Amino acid sequence: MGRVKAEKIRNTLKQTREKRKIQVPRVYQLKLQNLSEKDREVLGRLFLEAKWLYNYIIADVENRLNRDTWKLKEVEIKTPEGFKRREIKQLSSQMRQGIVERIKGNLLSLKRAKEKGIKVGKLSFKSEVRSIPLKQYGITYKILGDKNKVKIQGIKKRFRVLGLHQIPKNAELAEAQLIKKPSGYYLHVVCYLPKEEVLKEIRERRLKEPIGIDLGIKHQLTLSSGEKFSWYIPETKRLKRLQKSLSRKQKGSKNYWKIKQLIRREWEYINNKRKDTLNKAVSYLKRFSLIVVQNDNIKSWKEGYFGKQIQNTGIGGITARLRTLATLIPVVFVDRYEPTTQTCSFCGHRQKVFLSERTFKCQSCGKEIDRDVNSARNILRIAIEKLKGEGKLLKTLPVDCGKVTPVEWGLSHDEAGSPRL
Ligand SMILES: [Zn+2]
Repeated sequence: MGRVKAEKIRNTLKQTREKRKIQVPRVYQLKLQNLSEKDREVLGRLFLEAKWLYNYIIADVENRLNRDTWKLKEVEIKTPEGFKRREIKQLSSQMRQGIVERIKGNLLSLKRAKEKGIKVGKLSFKSEVRSIPLKQYGITYKILGDKNKVKIQGIKKRFRVLGLHQIPKNAELAEAQLIKKPSGYYLHVVCYLPKEEVLKEIRERRLKEPIGIDLGIKHQLTLSSGEKFSWYIPETKRLKRLQKSLSRKQKGSKNYWKIKQLIRREWEYINNKRKDTLNKAVSYLKRFSLIVVQNDNIKSWKEGYFGKQIQNTGIGGITARLRTLATLIPVVFVDRYEPTTQTCSFCGHRQKVFLSERTFKCQSCGKEIDRDVNSARNILRIAIEKLKGEGKLLKTLPVDCGKVTPVEWGLSHDEAGSPRL
């Protein structure tokens, strides 16, 4: 690469980095619609080639990753009948480069995990690739908004898509991924929105109160205001029935794959429902002026008493979402050793509370309150006391307004991020 060209690329990257500082990323899902048998064939081929290329590189990662692998028109892969040559004709060079970069990224995170002392294996062969990176908007894919269609590089047909209305007019389109799910093909499009406008929208809808959150097993979120959100949905009866049926089929037979596909669809349905509730919870939380959450060590829960239940609840998901939310509104994490379940949120009295007791009955002031709501209220109080002590609260109205918590809060660096306690 010439010096001038390299310089130009560096400058563009720098400009993009600067621009991203005042933007917020959002991902939108578009569904490809009215796919004909032929369309499915073409798209299916794309994912097949992606798998071949991926597995080909993984088979000898040291030698195959850094060469011009992405230029290959053909790869050799191992099949039950020995090595076979496979033609790569549908995947565009940008898509291939995207796959190469993804492998590099995966190797890097493995390396980082190893450095941290986490036991890691090697990258393994994939029996299926479920997403294809589409790196540059305008080249690998393009949205034809007025026609509700999308163009994917290397495919003549313009696909009709559902969901374009979600993307705001002022969004800047960036990379995307082509996704294969049991229910069909999707595009996950990354857009960048002006941060100032997103903040303005949040500010306009914002309540003046702060809110405390208790993370739990039965209800994943309990708020100090009394609301509860649960997105743990037990595996459906249908899923259990299908799994039972699968066990009776001969492995690898036509019926086996048919049932297997139905099981995947059922999982997709269950996961969609969970995500939906999680999204609702996050958008509800966005309205508060300050969010306080207990900095629970989810990992230790997983290994300990609650085991399997936790896997299905996706509490890890909410903490990740809260960390993202913290770039827009103040989110404070309180250390978990604070005795939030054993303290009365009305009078501060401490008493022993057993795990089986769902209601907190104060032995001192006699008040009764839901165990988790009590805990959420304590979490909120602890944070506010600490913030006050550190002079980080901007405005506090006199507490004579008849509420337990003062009405107006603001952090001295409102919007700028979240203080750590
Ligand atoms: Zn009390």
